Amino acid sequence: MQPTLADIHAAANTIRGIADATPLVPSPFMSECAGAEFLLKLENMQPIGAFKLRGALNAVAGVGDAAGVTCCSTGNHGRGVAYAARARGMRAVVCMSELVPQAKVDGIRALGAEVHIKGRSQDDALAQSLRLVREEGLVEISPFDDPLVIAGQGTIGLEILSARPDVTTLLVPLSGGGLAAGVALAAKAINPGIRVVGITMDRGAAMYESIRAGKPVEVEEVASLADSLGGGIGLNNRLSFAMCRDLLDEVVLVSEDEIYHAMQVLYYEDRIVAEGACVVGLAAVLNGKVTLDGPSATIVTGRNLDMPTFTRIVTGQDVDLGDVTVKGKPYVS
Ligand SMILES: *Cc1c(COP(=O)(O)O)cnc(C)c1O
Repeated sequence: MQPTLADIHAAANTIRGIADATPLVPSPFMSECAGAEFLLKLENMQPIGAFKLRGALNAVAGVGDAAGVTCCSTGNHGRGVAYAARARGMRAVVCMSELVPQAKVDGIRALGAEVHIKGRSQDDALAQSLRLVREEGLVEISPFDDPLVIAGQGTIGLEILSARPDVTTLLVPLSGGGLAAGVALAAKAINPGIRVVGITMDRGAAMYESIRAGKPVEVEEVASLADSLGGGIGLNNRLSFAMCRDLLDEVVLVSEDEIYHAMQVLYYEDRIVAEGACVVGLAAVLNGKVTLDGPSATIVTGRNLDMPTFTRIVTGQDVDLGDVTVKGKPYVS
């Protein structure tokens, strides 16, 4: 059931020409701070603006002659499934609740998916997705707990290690763990000595708490500048929990203040516009939470951010997250 290195090589063939071969570039500023060469894998340059296209393409290719695919993510996974299904000429239905902002609905529709709006919660949207599975024979694609999705995300690990076999540490943004599981599986199969560190925010860190508890647990979902890292791992998690528990050397947490500053660093020093989720690896290094002993890489996972919030961050203004305010601070190199 768990994917293998062979599955990741197969995924690389499946996604070739659509979602592969993003640049791996050095960050001179981060290299200087870390005292070791620091590389950025630019998944923000994917056609949907995020790495999730890899897993989605591999999963869509794997459903065979099903009537189509469905999911209920309004974020990067939903975009990935929509784009992948269109690329394969397959029907995709993305289910969401009435509470999802119109901009997200329009974004998914623009990528060619049907949108079904049901109820007032994520659970109602999920129920609709499951109904489509039962009644119309669609296949549901999980954002992280699916062997084909994990193998697809793992192709990032293959690409980093084939470009730079000398990398000693990989810093991987962590939420449901599909990305970290796939990348760690590929990297450790090629170089068992490599260190793979999962990094996430300290507000609502579901995988971190689950690994500590020894089983999947629920955490309260709270707003974060790293919004793509929010959400649970599922109490019935089948794959990504065990893989992250067994393959990650460590899981490190960073604060909202640290994410805020690291977004400024990536913007001003590397001139990259990227989501809060992308900078957790930089934040961990800049705050001494991870020390590097050789060439290291992190994954700039996506660029689909809320531009008004981003503008506030790069101009040093406060950001109101609802229950807390992240205090603004102008960037000083
Ligand atoms: C989904 C996502 C992640 C985390 O991936 P998981 O497989 O859920 O751990 C990180 N960054 C971005 C931009 C994402 O969309």
